[in-house]
Amino acid sequence: MASITNDIAETTALDARSSVAVADPCAIVIFGASGDLTRRKLIPALFELAACQSLARRFSIIGFARSEMSDAAFQESVARAVRENATCHVKDEDLRNFAQSFVYVAGDYDQPDAFTKLSRRLEELDRERHLEGNRLYYLATPPAVYPKVIGQIGTAGLAKPATDHSWVRIIVEKPFGHDLPSARKLNHTILGVFDETQIYRIDHFLGKDTVQNLLALRFGNGIFEPLWNRNYVDHVQITAAETLGVEQRAAFYETTGALRDMVQSHLLQLVSLTAIEPPSNFDATSLRNEKLKVLQALRPFTLETVTTNVVPGQYAEGQINGEHVAGYRHESGVKPDSKTDTYVAAKVLIDNWRWADVPFYIRTGKRMARRVTEVAINFRRAPHLLFRGQELDTNTLVLNIQPEEGISVGFHVKVPGQKLRLSSVSMDFSYLAAFGASERSAYATLLNDCMRGDATLFDRADGVEAAWAFVQPILDAWENKGRSVSPYPAGSWGPREADELLSRDGRHWRKP
Ligand code: NDP
Repeated sequence: MASITNDIAETTALDARSSVAVADPCAIVIFGASGDLTRRKLIPALFELAACQSLARRFSIIGFARSEMSDAAFQESVARAVRENATCHVKDEDLRNFAQSFVYVAGDYDQPDAFTKLSRRLEELDRERHLEGNRLYYLATPPAVYPKVIGQIGTAGLAKPATDHSWVRIIVEKPFGHDLPSARKLNHTILGVFDETQIYRIDHFLGKDTVQNLLALRFGNGIFEPLWNRNYVDHVQITAAETLGVEQRAAFYETTGALRDMVQSHLLQLVSLTAIEPPSNFDATSLRNEKLKVLQALRPFTLETVTTNVVPGQYAEGQINGEHVAGYRHESGVKPDSKTDTYVAAKVLIDNWRWADVPFYIRTGKRMARRVTEVAINFRRAPHLLFRGQELDTNTLVLNIQPEEGISVGFHVKVPGQKLRLSSVSMDFSYLAAFGASERSAYATLLNDCMRGDATLFDRADGVEAAWAFVQPILDAWENKGRSVSPYPAGSWGPREADELLSRDGRHWRKP
């Protein structure tokens, strides 16, 4: 396997992983502060920002949830969350200072009094710590609670900035809706209280450097973009595979499934970033306009094409890393006759000049052979084969999004020796080798962006609805016709029907 030198100017390498953009002073209110997301992702991400001075010196974080807890108990849980989950080095003194910025307000989302209490606490903190009236609300409760919280924020008069110089923003966790009507309803609810410019719909996938690198690769280089179209690209494969099963989340997953959980969000983000036209600027409006155009150009599924071009699957028992694991229907909390999709593969077409007739094959699944997320651009074969009798695969450019972040290009070379024999090799760029381990999680990047008012990597109302509009005919077809899920052994690359989806077109899935 060939390897390219990571020949990067020293300053670039240093800047890239530690680039500091300091956020405005602000109060952050986390609703659902006693939960899993807060513990595993949000608190560690805020610590990472504080540790690299990307958080303003003056900040305060208010945890809000129904569980009774003192400030001291909450601060202890904050320290534990950082120790267990932070991706950066944790110094005791930094952690002590950080934890002291946390306070806790217990309250019920149905009780206006709780929001009056919250409002008073915010005012006190604002005065004590000179937070300039800036406020960031983070909805980290189960989605069913979002409308209540939004309504109470509005009623308590907490949605509008106090002065012309201060800001109020809200981050809404995914899933944003359960289907197209519920996404529209949630947009309506939230837009009744906040302006679109205040709303940050998060999909943490977009905070990953390697996802943003899709744009850097295409638009920061002159060599790829000329090839990035139907004249040179045969097809695209996008894979988001995990080895984990449903774990402790059966109650959530039984009503969600892979289509809603992964395709509507992460996979369509990757499709749109791979397929977009060059935006005129790298700003929120330009980028989101271009992403929207891709989503609107996706060929809608019909009852017939859902049957032929979408494959729902469900894992059966099998082996993961040499260990026997149970099938989905035997997981705790799952119905024995469950039809929930733990896997989806689909052939997606984009009806525009750049991508006409170039299929985007997408797949995502739990309990797959390997944990990997990648975008593979498969180029057309050479037009005339000089080397007869040699089976050559197509050239592929692979963007590895996780876990081995990088880029590789597959091509053919002559094997040394007398005979003219060709072999496939790959040229690999590794983020880790070039820049070292990242000390910043996707959540840290996005929280910092939001505190600086940069919505480029967040979704707009029309974008979220366009993604749901694409997925909705599949949900409808499954609902109306009754869905049959194709079983696949845990530890495999998915059901046979998914292989047939490509073999019908004379292609095959990559085995990353
Ligand atoms: P949890 O189930 O852990 O809930 C968060 C908190 O919300 C709980 O601690 C609880 O606090 C409160 N809560 C739970 N049920 C209710 C209810 N019926 N009414 C009012 N409050 C309730 O959720 P997560 O932290 O896992 O997720 C939060 C959000 O983030 C969800 O929308 C989820 O989809 C999303 N998300 C989560 C990810 C994760 O890794 N966990 C990843 C991506 C998105 P209390 O009882 O103290 O009020």
